[in-house]
Amino acid sequence: MARIGFVGLGNMGGGMALNLVKAGHEVVAFDLAEPALARARDGGCAIAESAAEAAAKVDAVVTMLPAGKHVASVYGEQIFGAVKPGTLLIDCSTIDVATARAVIAQAAERGFEMVDAPVSGGIAAANGGTLTFMVGGTDAAFARAEPILARMGKAVIHAGDAGAGQAAKICNNMILGSQMIATCEALAMAVRLGLDPRKFYDIASKASGQSWSLTSYCPLPGVGPESPADRGYEGGFAAALMLKDLKLAMQAAQGVDAAVPMGSAAEALYQSFVNAGGGHRDFSAIIAMLDGRQPG
Ligand code: NAD
Repeated sequence: MARIGFVGLGNMGGGMALNLVKAGHEVVAFDLAEPALARARDGGCAIAESAAEAAAKVDAVVTMLPAGKHVASVYGEQIFGAVKPGTLLIDCSTIDVATARAVIAQAAERGFEMVDAPVSGGIAAANGGTLTFMVGGTDAAFARAEPILARMGKAVIHAGDAGAGQAAKICNNMILGSQMIATCEALAMAVRLGLDPRKFYDIASKASGQSWSLTSYCPLPGVGPESPADRGYEGGFAAALMLKDLKLAMQAAQGVDAAVPMGSAAEALYQSFVNAGGGHRDFSAIIAMLDGRQPG
C-alpha cells in the first residue's frame, strides 16, 4: 500500500481521504480548517503542518481544493518544492481547463507525472467511495493514478490528455444544468395545466422527455424516487456549485468559440437563483424560482 499526501479535506476531500485509509493506504493529510483536520485525525490520517509537509516523503499527492487559484498556489508555492522525485500528483478539484493544463505542464517541466481527475457525485458518493473520476493526463500517469482513484470511486475513466478530465466534467455539468431547468419548467407547467405530476412523471419517464434530472433526481417532492426535493432541497448538489461549474463551462466555451446558448441561459438562471439567496440549496430547488415562487 502507498503513502499518500492529501490536501483539502472539506466536504468532498474529507470522506475521500478516509476511504484511502480504509483501503489500507497511509495518508498524511493537511487542510487550513481545524474541524477538517480533526475528522481526518479521527479517521486514522496522520496530520501535517502544511501542504508542503503532506506532500513530502509520499508516493502520491491528492488535492481536493475549491477552485483554480487554490490549486495553482498550493502546487506552485507548496507542493512542487517539497515532493520527492517520482511522486505522482493527482488534482481532483473542479477547476478551469486552462489552469489544469498549466499546472500539469509545470509538473511535467519538473519531471513529475500529474493528472486532473475531477469527480461526479456529491458528498454522499465521496463518503461512500462511489465517485466517478474523469481523468486527464498521459497513459503512464493514468495507469499509476487509476488504482488509487479506484479506492475512492466506482468508475475511473481516462478522458484524454491533460485537462481532458476538467473538459469532460464541465461539459457534463452543462448538460445537467440545462436539463434540470428544462425538467423543472415542464413539471411546473404540467401542474399549471392541471396534470397530476405523478401521472406526468409516469408518462415522461417512459417517453422522450425522460432524463436523469427527471427519473433519478426529480425536482418535485413526492414524485419519482427519493431526491433532495423530498428533503426540503437540503444536501445534494448546491446551486452555488452548479453556478461555479456553468461559469467554468462558459469560460471554456469562449476559449474555443463554442456556441452554448442553452448553457448560457442556464448560467444566467442559476445566477439569478443564487442572487436571490438560493445558493446553499440543492440545484433542483430552482423549480420554485422558475414557477414564480420565492427560492426560500
Ligand atoms: P470545501 O470548501 O468543502 O472544501 C475545500 C477544502 O479546501 C476546505 O476544507 C478548505 O479549508 C481547504 N483549503 C482551501 N485552501 C487550502 C489551502 N491553501 N491549503 C489547504 N487546504 C485548503 O469544498 P468541497 O465541496 O469539498 O469541493 C472541493 C472541490 O470538489 C471543488 O472544486 C468542487 O467544485 C468539487 N466538487 C464538489 C462537489 C460537492 O457536491 N460538494 C461535487 C463534485 C465536485
